[in-house]
Amino acid sequence: METIEQQVRELFCWLCQTPHPSGEEAALRERIADRLRGLGLHPWADARGNLVCDLPGREGAPLTAVQAHIDMVCAVGSPDYVPSRDPIRPIVRDGFLCTAGESSLGADCGAGAAVMLWLAEHPAPQRPPLRLLFTVDEEVGLGGARDLDPACVDGVRYLINTDGFHWGRIVIGSAGGVREHFTRALTHSNAPELPNGRAYRLKISGLRGGHSGFDIGKTRANALILLGELLREIRMESPFALIDLSGGTAFNAIPYEATADILTIAPAQDAIEQIWDKIYARIQKNDPDARLEIQDIAIPNRVWSGDTASGLLTVLGGFADGVYARHPSGVVSDSSNLGHIYYKDGMVCLDAMLRCMDAQAEQALQLSHRTVCAMCGFAGQIVSRYPAWPAQDNGTLQTLAAQCYLDATGQEAEVTVQHVGLEPSHLLAKNAQMECICVGMELLDCHSPQERWKLDTIEPFVEMIQRLLSRLSTAPQP
Ligand SMILES: [Zn+2]
Repeated sequence: METIEQQVRELFCWLCQTPHPSGEEAALRERIADRLRGLGLHPWADARGNLVCDLPGREGAPLTAVQAHIDMVCAVGSPDYVPSRDPIRPIVRDGFLCTAGESSLGADCGAGAAVMLWLAEHPAPQRPPLRLLFTVDEEVGLGGARDLDPACVDGVRYLINTDGFHWGRIVIGSAGGVREHFTRALTHSNAPELPNGRAYRLKISGLRGGHSGFDIGKTRANALILLGELLREIRMESPFALIDLSGGTAFNAIPYEATADILTIAPAQDAIEQIWDKIYARIQKNDPDARLEIQDIAIPNRVWSGDTASGLLTVLGGFADGVYARHPSGVVSDSSNLGHIYYKDGMVCLDAMLRCMDAQAEQALQLSHRTVCAMCGFAGQIVSRYPAWPAQDNGTLQTLAAQCYLDATGQEAEVTVQHVGLEPSHLLAKNAQMECICVGMELLDCHSPQERWKLDTIEPFVEMIQRLLSRLSTAPQP
């Protein structure tokens, strides 16, 4: 008799036979649909390619969806491996399922999809009616969930997303995202005649930077905000003209580098170094490798107009950046990242990204950015936005899931939120009546050829899901 672990593993290996990088899920979707039809079920796909299949359950119990994405990030570790052509070849090593290193494993989220197939192949009387929902293109901007036909979640009361990749964690909310873009025409004036004038390039670098979702709560300095502080301090000693300023790389990356060129008569280099030393003393705990390089450069013919320069310096001083609020679990709930300042088509451009779970916090941050920027001559626009999954503390689904985890393991689950976008935020936008959780088995190094799936988390995970479904089958209909 095969164990549940073996059965789920076999289903996963079966999924692995068909390549399924993001955007190329059609063949796998067809195979899954065939397999489900072979069980006498009636799967259907929406126009976007998401696959839905209903399983019968106890009459009168709330319709419950179990969901996984069937695309994967195919990280390649060998020159011979071609993601759209080659199957994934899972092997067992030291208690993990992994590959020999030629590609990522795709247990993110094939592990969840395998458990869903297991549920379809192992009917049990103590279950609510189940809807299996296989989404596509999760790894490229949550595309399948975003464009999902609302009919796919119509009537669903509870949704269990299996993309959690950490056994013991129950996610109950995630931040939405707003990309902001601000611009101001860059005007120049002739460089002032300064008999003792000197021009410097000031470059801050060596910061840790990072992802504006995963790392913003780790108290890492933002190179652009630091550069603003340095320039304001220098200005206290002596006026200067700005020749150039830029830094950062993208909306969603914390800037680790920023540069300003200035024309001034004072202070001298060692005075600027003293100012930096004070700033460094404050940030060195979290950004030990931060440094300022000061370089003499040629005196230019023209500089930024005073308006443009003071406008930008004022924005750098007043721009709400970093963590705005935290969830009781300690995870960041709302944040802002000034990610990129650059020059394009005669304009100074600022790109920032807000991540907020709380609609009011999002509004407050947006208004703050708009006001500060407008006062400094910058016009703003929203480039893109996706909704939040607001945490529903003490919801039925969350409470039952935590109890079932405790029953299955004897341990308390970690109930938390995430500061990056998850599929339930889009799914909730299609059906606001749902309660959602995101759970998963233990996966390590996802999106890399070292990706691996801890095998001894399969059986307790399936057991927890079974217990949870059983509890939901008798949960009162609201
Ligand atoms: Zn995933």
